[in-house]
Amino acid sequence: MSKRLRRCLVVCALLTALTMCAVVSGGMYVLSCNQMEQRLARQAANLAALLEKSEDPVALLEGSVYDQRVTLIGAGGQVLYDSDHAAAAMENHLQRPEVVQARAEGSGSSRRQSDTVGEISLYYALRLRDGAVLRLAGTERSILGTVQGIALWALGGALICVLASALLAVPVTRRMVRPINAINLEHPLESDAYEELSPVLRRMDQQNARIAAQMASMARQRQRQDVILGGMREGLIILDDSHTVLTMNAAARELLQVAEDPEGQTMLAVNRSETLVKLLEEGSGQSEMQVAGRTVRVSISRVEQGGMVILLQDVTSDRLAEESRRQFSANVSHELRTPLTTISGYAELLASGLVKAEDAENVGGKILRESRRLLSLIEDIIRLSRLDEGVVGEMVPVELRRLAESCAAKLRTAAMQADVTLKVQGDTAWVMGDGAQLEEMLTNLMENGVKYNVPGGSVTVTTGLRQGRPFAAVKDTGVGIAPEHQSRVFERFYRVDKSRSKQTGGTGLGLSIVKHGAQVHHAEITLESQVGKGTCITLTFPETTEYTNPK
Ligand code: ADP
Repeated sequence: MSKRLRRCLVVCALLTALTMCAVVSGGMYVLSCNQMEQRLARQAANLAALLEKSEDPVALLEGSVYDQRVTLIGAGGQVLYDSDHAAAAMENHLQRPEVVQARAEGSGSSRRQSDTVGEISLYYALRLRDGAVLRLAGTERSILGTVQGIALWALGGALICVLASALLAVPVTRRMVRPINAINLEHPLESDAYEELSPVLRRMDQQNARIAAQMASMARQRQRQDVILGGMREGLIILDDSHTVLTMNAAARELLQVAEDPEGQTMLAVNRSETLVKLLEEGSGQSEMQVAGRTVRVSISRVEQGGMVILLQDVTSDRLAEESRRQFSANVSHELRTPLTTISGYAELLASGLVKAEDAENVGGKILRESRRLLSLIEDIIRLSRLDEGVVGEMVPVELRRLAESCAAKLRTAAMQADVTLKVQGDTAWVMGDGAQLEEMLTNLMENGVKYNVPGGSVTVTTGLRQGRPFAAVKDTGVGIAPEHQSRVFERFYRVDKSRSKQTGGTGLGLSIVKHGAQVHHAEITLESQVGKGTCITLTFPETTEYTNPK
């Protein structure tokens, strides 16, 4: 800008100077012509006066020297004398415009190219009394000489002007540009600029306000969109027609294990699983794919305006639950078939009458034991199914120590039969929970403590608070669980020693009911066990309010 301004100023100065030169030179030329004409007229008049007094004008003229061309033309137009040329050789001058004018009006002038000399001349002619015409001529060369001298001076002056303006242009443009550069683009109206810039500044201010409003609205929209997309549990990806990612929410990035925002990349650069490639080719549909050990359901649909929307859902837990249900059903059928087969076998024996009277009691006892086992199996299955369905009783404050004592009372006979001492100790510990479920959990743990014990052994239930958290620990001095089984005993139908479990009427579901119950109550289960020494299973509940557990 300032460069252009500087150049502009210099060019302006140059043009002005050149124009001035031309005008001055032109003016000087016109002035010089006029002056020459006046001088010629004066000299012609003087010379004419002399000639009219002279007897022999030609001789008079020939005897003098002139700094102008002097021509004497006779009344008939013949040249009598010419200071620059031989008169005899010259043509008749009667038709020369200045001669014609002088003959008619007494004097005449003209500016033209001389036929004789060949250059532009200014002629002044004066009619003499005897009809002859005295003509004086000045060449343009002499005028131009003068003009040229002046023009050279003028040109010199112009050059000085241009130089001065070039030098002045720098500070002048700087001063002109400074207020423009100092315009505050954020708040243009606060700028101290030229009056002429006011409309532009007002316009800028209005546009600034409009842009700010648009930006704020866009930011709000983006924020809303981010909140919605970020809050979605499902992964959402929006693609354009060329499968370039326009948006990918955090859930989608997490599901596809994408570390950086893939906006602008093609979808295939982000994930090129076969399922996705196929769905993208088809343009719409639903399928499932495995990503880093997770099962992800992918749904793709086209958008009318162009592009596609991909919805991702983590269905790993659904699939695992389905699988575990499937396994559970298979196990249940197997577990039910075993006692039923035994029962039906013995019943067949009885029915056939092949059993001797003294063996009938024994066979009946076996049938009874197997049917009890079947019954408790069915009860456990029903309980687990209810837990699976999420059936939970009312959550109320329950005191663990009292609960443990009540469970122990119910198990005392069984414990005595197994020659195992059952003991409850510790402090009051309140938890928020489903009383019936908690009772069942404690009973299962204590029952196992008795079942998998040795004669003369003991089961000790300790309750209380540990770091503010209520707990119940069931410790026995029984057979213990080998480390390789410890993580599996909570699985459904998992039994370390099948025959022992069967013998004691175990279903393999007791600990899974405990595990399920612990999940419902957000309790942690810890198992410590040593083969031949005993087992301790602890349930640690979340910290409860001061109301239920006063310190
Ligand atoms: P079960 O009905 O067979 O007792 P559980 O789910 O209660 O089924 O227990 C699973 C298996 O874990 C049992 O079969 C047993 O082998 C083992 N187990 C459970 N509790 C104890 C314990 N206190 N001491 C030793 N082994 C145990």
